[in-house]
Amino acid sequence: MSNTAPPREPETTTFDAVIVGAGFAGMYMLHTLRELGFTARVYEGGGGVGGTWYWNRYPGARCDIESLQYSYSFSDELQQEWEWSEKYAPQPEILSYANHVADRFDLRRDIRFDTRVTKAEYDEGAKRWTVETDQGDRVTAQFCIMALGCLSAANKPAFPGMADFPGPVYHTGEWPHEGVDFTGLRVGVIGTGSSAIQSIPLISKQAKTLTVFQRTAAYTVPAWNEKLDTEYQRRIKADYPALRAKARARPTGFYFPFNTKPALEDSPEGREKQYEEFWSRGGLPFLGAYGDLLFEKDANDTVADFARAKIRSIVKDPKVADLLCPDNVFGCKRLCVDTGYYETYNQPHVTLVDIAKTGIERFTRTGVVANGEEYELDAVVCATGFAAMTGSFDRIAITGRDGLPLTKKWEAGPRTYLGLTSVGFPNLFMLTGPGSPSVLASLVQAIEQHVDWVADCIAHMRDVGAESIEPTLADEDAWVEHVNEVAQVSLRSTCSSWYVGANIPGRPRVFMPYIGGFPVYVNKCNEVMDAGYEGFVLDGAAETNTPPRIRLTERWHVPLDMEVISPAALAAKRVPMV
Ligand code: NAP
Repeated sequence: MSNTAPPREPETTTFDAVIVGAGFAGMYMLHTLRELGFTARVYEGGGGVGGTWYWNRYPGARCDIESLQYSYSFSDELQQEWEWSEKYAPQPEILSYANHVADRFDLRRDIRFDTRVTKAEYDEGAKRWTVETDQGDRVTAQFCIMALGCLSAANKPAFPGMADFPGPVYHTGEWPHEGVDFTGLRVGVIGTGSSAIQSIPLISKQAKTLTVFQRTAAYTVPAWNEKLDTEYQRRIKADYPALRAKARARPTGFYFPFNTKPALEDSPEGREKQYEEFWSRGGLPFLGAYGDLLFEKDANDTVADFARAKIRSIVKDPKVADLLCPDNVFGCKRLCVDTGYYETYNQPHVTLVDIAKTGIERFTRTGVVANGEEYELDAVVCATGFAAMTGSFDRIAITGRDGLPLTKKWEAGPRTYLGLTSVGFPNLFMLTGPGSPSVLASLVQAIEQHVDWVADCIAHMRDVGAESIEPTLADEDAWVEHVNEVAQVSLRSTCSSWYVGANIPGRPRVFMPYIGGFPVYVNKCNEVMDAGYEGFVLDGAAETNTPPRIRLTERWHVPLDMEVISPAALAAKRVPMV
């Protein structure tokens, strides 16, 4: 987008680690490795830090986890000094925060911007990775750390006739830095996921007409976003560690009050009252109204009915309301959080077009055709999402031992041990990779936990003189099986979401994130480390009796009990939001 960096000489250096990506994961990984005395180079495709928050500049973009929790916890000074202005910070503020972190920890000097990694190849003889970029860099490193982001490879469907359409076509995930003025334009939006739901109300304020093309109706809960109360912020900061500890113990890695009782044990009046109460709190915590909502279809039907009634109470035209009412499992696809989404459809210049049966037929010189009808448009916004979790890996030619391409290994779906490593790819770490809680947890916390684990692991390898680390096939297979097994317990595995890769034709259908809950996962990672990297082979280690370092990972130890989450709670299907 902003590729404005001055030309530079290609690099041929060697490092301890190459980190791919300078989003929240890559930044913290760099900081941590430097603190431990390692050399690291970060390559970043964008012109600045921030990852998702660098690219997704569409109107209305903001986080849907409270900013006081959607932020780094590793530095108390940082969390004390940064002031959030709103409950859910808007994208420019989150990007400013990322820039502040980069400045504060002097990260930029080790990041090469406007540089995409094109190739990463493992040299088994040297036990090192060779990494190449589109700027001609060719560097080697013992460790290659993929900090690619779970939702960063934009899904840009090639609709027939697109080249004929003379107007601009934007993707929400690659929004122009200078912003877009839709004033007086006939605008089309394709898609009704989170990005669309955040941007549609704002685009409608500028556009002359707005036509929304909906393939699947989405559930969305009001954010009730507001200015962050200074007194509340002060109280949190007075004991920030307490909030962070409570958050770490939650299945999602972020804290909000929830109820573990089953919806089906409550009376219809009791449920109505409970749903109203949680609706008035708004956002993702709405799913915490009962413990069984994502496990029992009958329980889920009660919340889905409530949400549909809400839609019908807001949208005045009953036909439009019907179209906006999803008929699938509530919360099966990632729940959206909005400000004035349904109200947007009460405006006379906004039209909803159902494309469930035919999809977008084609673009023309004057607009878009769906259901045999042409809609005249000046500009189109594709809010069509991402090739989630594995799409960003597919963009790099990653080759492991014996010349094995990662794309080949993951042909039938990603296979990892703990979402951190994969057999055949020694010394390659994935931050929030498939098979870890990642997108089902508060991502900043998931990132920090992974970075801490990886950093401790690399430091331990230095302590014992190990040259490489790789999981065993048996342990990887067992983990993949466990990830799949746990997914089957949740209703979330039942619909065609991006969690299972079903948003893009031809992708294997596998539930990619680990749904067993953040603390359960964290404890498993800790156990693996405490047991001397159980399930891994550390090659070339001279010193075998050195106990594993748990310097950074220590803070992630979480007591498991029924009040938070435990395997027993999961088996009893009383864990809200997994
Ligand atoms: P998304 O949830 O995948 O939504 C994409 C939308 O485009 C869906 O409505 C999809 O329909 C539609 N679509 C995709 N391909 C299409 C095609 N070929 N023809 C017509 N329609 C098509 O993507 P997103 O809205 O960018 O959100 C992705 C994820 O990013 C979210 O789930 C969330 O995790 C994260 N996110 C978070 C926030 C936030 O609130 N902080 C904001 C934005 C994104 P189908 O449903 O039928 O596939």
